[in-house]
Amino acid sequence: MAASLGPLVGAIDQGTSSTRFLVFNAGTAELLSHHQVELKQEFPKEGWVEQDPKEILDSVHECVERTCEKMKELNIDIANIRAIGVTNQRETTVVWDKTTGEPLYNAIVWLDLRTQSTVERLLKRIPGHNKSFLKSKTGLPLSTYFSAVKLRWLLDNVEEIKKAVEDGRAMFGTIDSWLIWCLTGGINGGIHCTDVTNASRTMLFNIHSLEWDPELCKFFEIPMEILPNIRSSSEIYGVMESGALTGVPISGCLGDQHAALVGQMCFQDGQAKNTYGTGCFLLCNTGQKCVFSEHGLLTTLAYKMGKDKPAFYALEGSVAIAGAVVRWLRDNLGIASSSLEVEQLAAAVGTSYGCYFVPAFSGLYAPYWEPSARGIICGLTQFTNKNHIAFAALEAVCFQTREILDAMNKDCGIPLSQLQVDGGMTSNKILMQLQSDILCIPVVKPSMAETTALGAAMAAGAAEGVEVWSLNPEDLTAVTWERFEPQINPEESEYRYARWKKAVMKSMGWEA
Ligand code: ADP
Repeated sequence: MAASLGPLVGAIDQGTSSTRFLVFNAGTAELLSHHQVELKQEFPKEGWVEQDPKEILDSVHECVERTCEKMKELNIDIANIRAIGVTNQRETTVVWDKTTGEPLYNAIVWLDLRTQSTVERLLKRIPGHNKSFLKSKTGLPLSTYFSAVKLRWLLDNVEEIKKAVEDGRAMFGTIDSWLIWCLTGGINGGIHCTDVTNASRTMLFNIHSLEWDPELCKFFEIPMEILPNIRSSSEIYGVMESGALTGVPISGCLGDQHAALVGQMCFQDGQAKNTYGTGCFLLCNTGQKCVFSEHGLLTTLAYKMGKDKPAFYALEGSVAIAGAVVRWLRDNLGIASSSLEVEQLAAAVGTSYGCYFVPAFSGLYAPYWEPSARGIICGLTQFTNKNHIAFAALEAVCFQTREILDAMNKDCGIPLSQLQVDGGMTSNKILMQLQSDILCIPVVKPSMAETTALGAAMAAGAAEGVEVWSLNPEDLTAVTWERFEPQINPEESEYRYARWKKAVMKSMGWEA
């Protein structure tokens, strides 16, 4: 516990697997209290992934209330919480009725593949069926991943949504917008907004003008009146209208990967971090320059820390399935009862014994952007058992990271000499060691594990004049790093990586 507590800042971290609320002490960034609720995911049809927006909202309320109760038990005055930041799973799409406050359909989760035919139909309208046609404005390839196609699907397929749009009752938002609107009052004057980082994942946002783009909206046939207002990542959007923290301003908002970049203090051009959650996302700050990738990476907003502050950009390598493969081994194959048990299974053998697992459950994202890929496990022999498959699943996360790191190195010109990591999976030491072995560079993990929430808290605090953590890297004496150095020889690493590539080729075109 901190000797003296200053002002406090809270962060709502709404991820795909769980929701959390965390409270930090300003100045030292010490984590004082938190609460976490695991979330359900629904898979109504093959390739479909949904979540209930009301369950997500309820989980936020529960986390806020429980954290406040825990703080009272610790004799920490919740009245010192001066600001709240929101960070969230990105691209996940919600449409709700602004007169009733009710969602008009489940949230379509970023991993969902139902829009494959929508993407194909849109591609037919593009000269040469070029996936990168909209890249100069959006930084993104046309893919099932981004919100615009999910929203197009909802407008085409859900009668109630069509009707609500006609009647002027519909509101669209990613999870940040849904939560901020509800938390700031909902039908009683809730604020309908999003920040530039979340907006940059919709494909409707012009990453140069920082506005919704009428031509993009026309291309996807999206009515602009249902879109939220675009704000910076750090400003007061509104105040909490109910619960223990009523009246506290919500003043920070960043997509989860962007928040982690901030929480890892990657403020300099060329600084990068990789976050291992449901998916895996490597972001490299490119400063105030919009850099376009030649190797399958996305260009995205990194952050804009205030209305009058400049926008910073990042290159991003996105991997759809990382922690999700561990959850799949637990929930679908039942080979373990927890993520930790998957780690133990892998640790018990320390090798995949030549087994390779490409978890292309949602096609392959960067650097391939191949929706037709599907998961495969290959190299099986009579000897293979569940331990080897658990190991191969972890190794798959490392190979996928190697692919996006290679792409990043080519685009940036200067290879990264070490990789900064964070996210739920980084508690797995086998994975971290394996990652260093596969990349042949050190992997470094900050002692502060909650970088995503910290980034959101920093943005929220900044808008209220509260410095959660110094923005000056030299002042970060409190951070210690756990280092994982490569332990296998590079030839061995190259051999395994080459086998992985062969397995990836086999996963491609399965659904074509
Ligand atoms: P998100 O932000 O996407 O919700 P988190 O950063 O909370 O994800 O990480 C949760 C993911 O990490 C889950 O998919 C879970 O399976 C995985 N995970 C957690 N602990 C471990 C572990 N020890 N080994 C492997 N995977 C883990």
